[in-house]
Amino acid sequence: MRRILMRKWIVAGNWKMHNTIAESIALARAIKEGFSGSANGEVVVAPPFTALSAVGDALKGSAVRLAAQNMYSEDKGAFTGEISPVMLKDAGCACVIIGHSERRKFFSETDDGVNAKVKKALAAGLKPIVCVGETDEERVQGVTQSVVGRQVRGALAGVEKLDDVVIAYEPVWAIGTGKVATSAQAEEVHAFVRGLIRELFGAAAEELRILYGGSVTKDNVAELAAMEDIDGALVGGASLKPDGFLGIIAKMP
Ligand code: PEP
Repeated sequence: MRRILMRKWIVAGNWKMHNTIAESIALARAIKEGFSGSANGEVVVAPPFTALSAVGDALKGSAVRLAAQNMYSEDKGAFTGEISPVMLKDAGCACVIIGHSERRKFFSETDDGVNAKVKKALAAGLKPIVCVGETDEERVQGVTQSVVGRQVRGALAGVEKLDDVVIAYEPVWAIGTGKVATSAQAEEVHAFVRGLIRELFGAAAEELRILYGGSVTKDNVAELAAMEDIDGALVGGASLKPDGFLGIIAKMP
């Protein structure tokens, strides 16, 4: 009840490096047809850069919002291969995923780099979905909270208003592995993150949406959705098929 009043659920699909433009349009159309809007929740899709404009067009007139999977922390300039927040806005994006664990692992993204992107996204009017999460090794070592705490503090350093920020807790060991965190494991970290945000930002913590990501499917989302501090799902694999994604959307609390 408290969540429904204060925090709208978000289901966000991260398509990663999948789908041609034609495949992306087909998937977007199927999602648009299957989701006519909800008072309780929001739906976001993050196609690859090449398909952003086309998917934005395909989603026109729907309640589904467009996100990018990454961005650079400058508006323009000699940064070959990079995409700026201004360009993402121009392509129709409302949100941008920042600091996904795959970016941290394969592209050496740091907490400082994530912080620069978060600030730049907010300045450009994009809502950042900031990803944090521990590796398997870190969980076994018992340092989950210190790792996630460091990532959250790092990402939000110097950020003044939390209004447009969304955090996604994504334990790295659960991403793309089929090994979903138990609802109790996820809730423990979500509650920790909310407590930390309360320390840093006060009452704004009660309105911050904290998504869970890591092998979410239509079969396990209900259990996660029952948790007090879980305000949505960031979905990789299961967002690539209309059935899987719409099945998750249908279970938004
Ligand atoms: C992700 O990419 O953010 C993710 C959670 O992937 P998956 O749902 O496939 O684990």
